[in-house]
Amino acid sequence: MSPVRVTYQDWIVTLGRDPALRRYAGPGTMSTGGAFESDRAAEIAEAVGRALESLTDQERLLIIRFYFMGESYEKLSCLSGRAIHKLAAVHHRAVKKLRARLATFVEKRFDVRPTGRPDCIICRSPFRAEIDTLIDQRDRGRSWRTVIKALKKRYSIIIKTPQILIGHEKYH
Ligand SMILES: [Zn+2]
Repeated sequence: MSPVRVTYQDWIVTLGRDPALRRYAGPGTMSTGGAFESDRAAEIAEAVGRALESLTDQERLLIIRFYFMGESYEKLSCLSGRAIHKLAAVHHRAVKKLRARLATFVEKRFDVRPTGRPDCIICRSPFRAEIDTLIDQRDRGRSWRTVIKALKKRYSIIIKTPQILIGHEKYH
């Protein structure tokens, strides 16, 4: 491990287990909103916390530092030694995962249907979060064939052309 990486990882130990909770359920939230607001804030924080836990360490740290601590790509790039375009890719993937993982909560709690793509067989699937993980973790050196096979076998989803998966991964 490089010294830079150690610093980057140590941050989470220094600031505590879940800065998202502090941000949402902190004293500021309670004083402005009263009991109802703080209950709601705690509920949201818990859902967000759970969704954050489902990310990879790299994705979670980026989300926390970028959104909760307001750090720039430039700073994160310096700290982690990763190129900015790589951070942007991690960011995009992490937000997609969070959106998918919070969709059920948001729909139940706020009666808002997330803006999925009703025409996309992956977005429509109740297993979307799992499928997104499968897509993320695929061997990028190989064709989509293994993913297509797995979707058919595990979820009975028939993909007729890889374009469906490419489009979903890139835009949804
Ligand atoms: Zn989709």
